[in-house]
Amino acid sequence: MTNRFLAVVLALALPFPAVAQRPAPPVPAKVDPAVAALRDAALKDDIAYDIVEGLTTEVGQRLAGTEAEARARTWAVAKLTALGFRNVRSEPYRMPVWVRGEERAEIVAPFPQKLVLTALGNSGATPAAGIIAEVAVFKTLGEFMNAPDEAVQGKIVYIGNAMAPTQDGSSYGQAGSARFAGPGIAARKGALAVVIRSIGTDTHRTPHTGVTNFPDGVKPIPAAALSVPDAKLIEAMAARGKPLTMKLVLTPRQIGERESGNVIAEVPGSDPNAGIVLIGGHLDSWDLATGAIDDASGVAITAAAAKRIMDSGKQPRRTIRVVWFGSEEVGGFGGRDYARRHGAEKHVAAAESDLGADRIWRFESSLEGSAKPIADRIESAIAPLGIVHGRGPGGDGSDIGPTVALGVAGIDFNQSALRYFETHHTADDTLDRIDPEALRQNVAAWTAMLAIVADAPEEIGPVAPKSR
Ligand code: ZN
Ligand code: ZN
Repeated sequence: MTNRFLAVVLALALPFPAVAQRPAPPVPAKVDPAVAALRDAALKDDIAYDIVEGLTTEVGQRLAGTEAEARARTWAVAKLTALGFRNVRSEPYRMPVWVRGEERAEIVAPFPQKLVLTALGNSGATPAAGIIAEVAVFKTLGEFMNAPDEAVQGKIVYIGNAMAPTQDGSSYGQAGSARFAGPGIAARKGALAVVIRSIGTDTHRTPHTGVTNFPDGVKPIPAAALSVPDAKLIEAMAARGKPLTMKLVLTPRQIGERESGNVIAEVPGSDPNAGIVLIGGHLDSWDLATGAIDDASGVAITAAAAKRIMDSGKQPRRTIRVVWFGSEEVGGFGGRDYARRHGAEKHVAAAESDLGADRIWRFESSLEGSAKPIADRIESAIAPLGIVHGRGPGGDGSDIGPTVALGVAGIDFNQSALRYFETHHTADDTLDRIDPEALRQNVAAWTAMLAIVADAPEEIGPVAPKSR
C-alpha cells in the first residue's frame, strides 16, 4: 500500500464534522408525471419555430404604429385563430409614431472617412443637407455629464460608454443609460447633435438602434448610434489630439398619432374565479431587420407553450391569456394600454419573454406565501432543463410591468444574454439567430410552468410590488 493510497483511505474513513453539522438540503418538490410528460414532449416542439419563421418571412420588420405593424396584427389574429385559441382579437390604441429617414455621417477632418451609424428612435433631424460641426468626445456617460455646458454647446457630442456582455443582461441597463438619457442631457446642455457608441457587445459594423427620450420641454436633437468599430475609430482619432469635424445627415420624422394595438388570445380556464395567467411578448420590432430574437421568439415561445396546454386534453383551472403586445420598442405603449383596459380583471400571475431565444438558465418569481409551493414545483420540473432558481423577485419586463405593478405575481425565465446584445436592434436580428434546440428548451420550460401555475390549487397573490 503506497502512502498516497493510505492517505486516501484514511481520509475517506474519517468523519467530516463540518459537513455533518450542516442542515440537510431541502427535499425537492415532486414533479407531477403529467407535467414531466408535457415538458418532455415540448422538447420536440415545432410550433414556436413555425411562428418565428412565419412572422419574420411573411411580415418582416414591424415598426410600431406603421402599416407594417398593422399587417403583423392581421397576421397574428389569423395565426392564433388557426392554432385554435379562443377569444382572439386585436385591441387598438393610438400612439405617436417616429419613422427613420436618411442617415449618413463622415469625418471631414483631420482624417476624412465615412462612418456607419443609425438614428435612435425619437431622434430629431438635421436639415436635409446635414450639419458640419466639431465633435466633443467623451468615453463615458459620466465624463460627459461632468463636462461644463460650454464644452458641448454647438458641437456634436460623442458618448462611448462601452458595454460588456453579461449572462443576466444587467450591463444593458448600465451601459444603456448613454442611449436612454444621453441625448436628452446633450440637448439640455446645448449640443447640436449626439452620436453614441452602439449599446451592443459585438465588433461588427452593424449599429444598434433603440429608443431614446427627450425630457418634456426639451427640443429633440439629432441622435444616432455608431457601430462599435466606428465608435472605436472616433476615439482613436480623438486620441491624436486634433479637433475632429463631422458631417451628419439624419432626417427621421415624427408623423403624428397612428393606430397600434395588442393582439390577445386565450385558453379558457374551467374556474372563472381562479384568475388569469398572463403571458406574452411584443409583436412590434425595430425597422432594421425582421426582429427574430426581438421579439418574434418571445411571442412564439409563449404562444407555443399555451397551445401545448390547450391541446393536452385537460382544461386548465385558470385562463391562460396570451398577449402579443404592440409598440413596446418605442415606449411600452401596449403594456400600458393592456393594464389600463384589463387591470381590474383578476390576474394571478404574469410572465413575458423578451430576451431572445437562447437557453433559459434562471427562473425567478414572486410566488410567495401560500403560492410558494408552486414556485417549488416549478423549480423541480425545470431543473432537468438546466434552469436554476434565482433569489430575485419576478416581474421583469416592460410589457407586463404595468400589470405587475397592480400587485400581480411576476414569473421570469431568463435566457442567457451573453450573445443577445451582439445583434439586438441591428440589421442582423434575423431568423438565422434562432437556434431551434434552444427555442425548444424555452418552450419546454414555459409549458411546464403553465401546466403548474394554471392548474395550481393554491391561491396566488396579490403580492406587494417590490423594487429590484
Ligand atoms: Zn424586446
Ligand atoms: Zn428591443
